[in-house]
Amino acid sequence: MNEIYELVIIGGGPAGLTAGIYASRARLKTILAEKAIAGGQALLADTIENFPGFPDGIKGPDLAEWMEKQAKHAGLEIETAEAGAISLKKDKKAGFTVALNGGKSLETLAVIVATGAKWNSLSIPGERELTGRGVSYCATCDGPLFRNKDVVVVGGGDSALEDALFLTKFANSVTVIHRRDRLRAAKILQERALDNKKIRFVLNSIAVEVAGAGKVEGIKIKDVNTAKETLLKCNGVFVLVGITPNSEIAKALVKTDEKGYIISDDDMKTSVDGIFACGDVRKKLLRQIVTAAGEGATAAVSAKNYIEHVKGTEYPREAGK
Ligand code: NAP
Repeated sequence: MNEIYELVIIGGGPAGLTAGIYASRARLKTILAEKAIAGGQALLADTIENFPGFPDGIKGPDLAEWMEKQAKHAGLEIETAEAGAISLKKDKKAGFTVALNGGKSLETLAVIVATGAKWNSLSIPGERELTGRGVSYCATCDGPLFRNKDVVVVGGGDSALEDALFLTKFANSVTVIHRRDRLRAAKILQERALDNKKIRFVLNSIAVEVAGAGKVEGIKIKDVNTAKETLLKCNGVFVLVGITPNSEIAKALVKTDEKGYIISDDDMKTSVDGIFACGDVRKKLLRQIVTAAGEGATAAVSAKNYIEHVKGTEYPREAGK
């Protein structure tokens, strides 16, 4: 028999955990499904410097652990399981069924989608073959393997520069390859990276191939202005070229933008009554832990209002895509 909840939260990053704290404090019968370790991408951050309350910064895994602890302390039930699909309940009366991998299904009046985003790949020759053999998507995880080595970071956003700075703790040199003449990252990160003697920038260049037999030996790059190709020797390539939302489980039901980000309003309501979206999976301006947390809180309060409403009235679902 399916287990019955008032609220199912999918995803245990900062958005989902904060939603869980608020929902549990509102005494909603809530479960959070997280496929791996709670904490989301915060787990991969070495030091987080822009979450208020930590003037000296905080280690990403510490913040993630404390958020999870706080959610459990508030009474949140957390299940380690991947959510396969959200479907509208057939009787059309109330809510949704969330199928979990492993065969279990959850029945619920409302769902908060807080599934975050995944790292993009470059999709160039050699990248997939050499992943784990010098190609990485996470400096915090793999940086220490590159002590005294030469590494390349591809990308010009916050993740690329944060990881480039982190890699200077270990690597001999860090070359940042960026496809434009201007970086996207926050100015404070740009200043630090420009000041760091171990970091050099190769701008207006795209990566066209990761080279190496059995392990990374270099990266072939192309100047976008001259089309000239050069082989840079290196031992590691860190790919940090943005993210793609993990919206597959809800895509068939709710409206998304052209990149797959879920469209939700100021109250985190999606195009389907009873489904809310918060954090990196939703279309928005700023993807930060602080915004994810705020949105998680809002989603939980919206879900609470919605649940109170449907419990007292005819169920008013409109699944317009
Ligand atoms: P991002 O901000 O989307 O930046 C991706 C970078 O990769 C951009 O510089 C982009 O170039 C480049 N790029 C994209 N596709 C490429 C391709 N095929 N080949 C070469 N370069 C490519 O992604 P992110 O840095 O992973 O950050 C994701 C989100 O998390 C952002 O909202 C970011 O602000 C946030 N974040 C925040 C922090 C922090 O607050 N400390 C840390 C990490 C991430 P263009 O610039 O030309 O588009």
